[in-house]
Amino acid sequence: MPHNYNREAFRDPSLVNKLFAIIEATAKRIAPTRTVPITIMEVCGGHTHTIFRYGLETRLPDLIEFAHGPGCPVCVLPRGRIEEAIAIARHPEVIFTTFGDAMRVPGEKGSLMLARAQGADVRMVYSPLDALRLAQENPNKKVVFFAIGFETTIPSTALTLLRAKALGVQNFFLLCCHITIIPTLKALLEQPDFRVDGFIAPGHVSIVIGTQPYTFIAEKFFRPVVIAGFEPVDVLSSLLMILQQIEQGKALVQNQYTRVVTERGNAKALAAIEQVYEPKLECEWRGFGKIAYSGLQLREQWHHYDAERHFRVTPSKVSDSTILQCGAVLTGRIKPQQCVAFGASCTPNTPLGALMVSSEGACAAYYQYQGIQKWSQ
Ligand code: SF4
Repeated sequence: MPHNYNREAFRDPSLVNKLFAIIEATAKRIAPTRTVPITIMEVCGGHTHTIFRYGLETRLPDLIEFAHGPGCPVCVLPRGRIEEAIAIARHPEVIFTTFGDAMRVPGEKGSLMLARAQGADVRMVYSPLDALRLAQENPNKKVVFFAIGFETTIPSTALTLLRAKALGVQNFFLLCCHITIIPTLKALLEQPDFRVDGFIAPGHVSIVIGTQPYTFIAEKFFRPVVIAGFEPVDVLSSLLMILQQIEQGKALVQNQYTRVVTERGNAKALAAIEQVYEPKLECEWRGFGKIAYSGLQLREQWHHYDAERHFRVTPSKVSDSTILQCGAVLTGRIKPQQCVAFGASCTPNTPLGALMVSSEGACAAYYQYQGIQKWSQ
């Protein structure tokens, strides 16, 4: 982040109001050419959070709708993976470590939080390095880190394994559930009923991968993509850039988040990922089913650190509920409040789906901020 980054400038109400006015004027010019609304998918849960925290959606013209995408890593963790994590955590010699959000995600029979209440040693950490430190401090224990997340977190677990190897730590393991964003977007775009007109692409992931990997979306699927920062001015500027492309009949990859995102990404982070991980043939996602090459696994030379191999985990096949509509929300087909469970049986205190657990989940954002209009007209 540049030293001169002034967060308040990206929340300036007068600039926000100007952007809303330009968006409205642009939408008016586009409207005669449309028979259905323009749907823009914000891929990342961080953007969903900004949209609802600042009430941005409430001031958009009727022509424009947001669809909330699959970029919340906790939300797309399949229930079977939670069951596998719990099975490992129940080993008496294990200290199971995880980011806080994953503690409450429901599996088939419970959560890591419940497993902890029942006696498993499950601990919340803020980084994989904390887990590595625990392994060094507890040589008679096996410390497992629940490695979830997109390219935002993958470099940190790769670098932690490199550190573990350099330090000769033998009692540290990863339960690798990392996923990558590009195959997922491709899978979404290949669905015949996918109606999204453009993408606000994830800022944090793009710091690592750069802008170049999104090119196929513009070239092959003719959808505009704008990589965006996370402040209100970032999101509205990106939305405007997409609308301008639509108005001009263009489909380009543009970078609004130039203060941190480059075309080629972070070479050191990409090299660390490449050294430690390789793509899996297929990976299961909550709400999406299996997507080819969308998950990562440890390369052979890192198998010693692989918790699945070490604890001989039996893959847990747990289907998504047919009543709950997490998958439909994740793919932008319905809004959270259209799920039968929203706000009734599913709330942040009693989450039935992961989208209600994570602060980046669309359902949690709707629940927390519904009705808020931060920017007065
Ligand atoms: S309200 Fe709950 S069950 Fe329904 S989609 Fe959201 S998280 Fe899933």
